[in-house]
Amino acid sequence: MNAIMTRTARLPYGRHLIDEEDIQAVVEVLRSDWLTTGPCIAAFEKAFAKKTGSLDAIAVSSGTAALHAAMFAVGVEPQDEVIVPAITFVASANAAVYQGAIPVFADVDPDTLLLDPADVERKITDRTKVIVAVDYAGQPCDYDALRSIADKHDLRLIADACHALGATYKGRPVGVLADLSTFSLHAIKPITTGEGGMITTNDVKLAERLRIFRNHGIMTDHWKRSQGGTFEYEMAELGYNYRITDFQCALGLSQLGKLDRWIAQRQEIAAHYNVAFMDCDALELLQVRDDRTCAWHLYVIRLRLDCLTVGRREIFDALRLENIGVNVHYIPVPWHPFYQKRGYEKGQWPVAEREYERILSLPIFPGMSNQDVDDVVAVMKKITKQYARKERIV
Ligand SMILES: *Cc1c(COP(=O)(O)O)cnc(C)c1O
Repeated sequence: MNAIMTRTARLPYGRHLIDEEDIQAVVEVLRSDWLTTGPCIAAFEKAFAKKTGSLDAIAVSSGTAALHAAMFAVGVEPQDEVIVPAITFVASANAAVYQGAIPVFADVDPDTLLLDPADVERKITDRTKVIVAVDYAGQPCDYDALRSIADKHDLRLIADACHALGATYKGRPVGVLADLSTFSLHAIKPITTGEGGMITTNDVKLAERLRIFRNHGIMTDHWKRSQGGTFEYEMAELGYNYRITDFQCALGLSQLGKLDRWIAQRQEIAAHYNVAFMDCDALELLQVRDDRTCAWHLYVIRLRLDCLTVGRREIFDALRLENIGVNVHYIPVPWHPFYQKRGYEKGQWPVAEREYERILSLPIFPGMSNQDVDDVVAVMKKITKQYARKERIV
């Protein structure tokens, strides 16, 4: 290894950005009468709905809670089948399991690693109820294709848009592209409330079911009751406590105002990487389709393993040794022991399983300096050169 390190401090692959304005917004709520189930939640929901062009938004305690609530709202029941891409965060599939349903994994497109509509169609049975479209790395799925499949087979379309807040498909914002769109507000996501989630929809009935589900299945919430001056409430269905606090929503509201600027910064960093890695034989970029914009939650690069003398593990370790905080998103979900024990056998998702072996997520986040970006490029070039397969015929 080269003894001279480019960086002395570890550069993370993602990082939140909190300013004084965010802190003041939270402090103000901490001094108020409502720590939870208060007016700040409605204000954040309203602003989020406006930002995504949707009729309504429902804030919950996490992105996972948002996915679970979405499964409940569209009526997912035990033994129903829910189609999920093989490459995603485990929560996309687990949410179906929470409702007793069966995740059916579909393969991904080799250019984008987004859900492959042709494989979705192959996986549909009489028991299929929902398609979960995951906007991997921040690029929206092919929603026109997925919508026509859903309509043809009378299925519901749920977007796992946890990476994609701020992206567009054919000029339409993420948030209105599915029956329900779910977002994560975890610290590493496009905007944050620490932990938190959101669901957007244009369907008034689904919105009502989501609000009931996040509050134990109770028909009216505490704030509405206090306004209405009644003690009565009814619980008709089993819900959960998936509420979020008002001080978290104050942070979310403050963060939302910075989203456009942050997406622009992510797009700039991605454009810089794209140009820098274009002439690198050992690296292959993911494609972004012409009809979409990407929110670049992740910058995923693929190794051309035939050009290298080592595998992904060694490249990963070498980058980490150089203090470049790379990561891998994601291990195919059916490979996890939980799913293996339930009979999902490896080898059924040829694209996802092959691509998984050669993906790396490079650092990308608002607040990353030009120097940080240059360091990643320099280290990446150094390492791929060091492990270049010399005998390869060009
Ligand atoms: C982060 C994430 C989730 C879960 O969100 P949490 O807020 O961490 O519960 C679900 N799906 C995807 C694709 C994610 O990236």
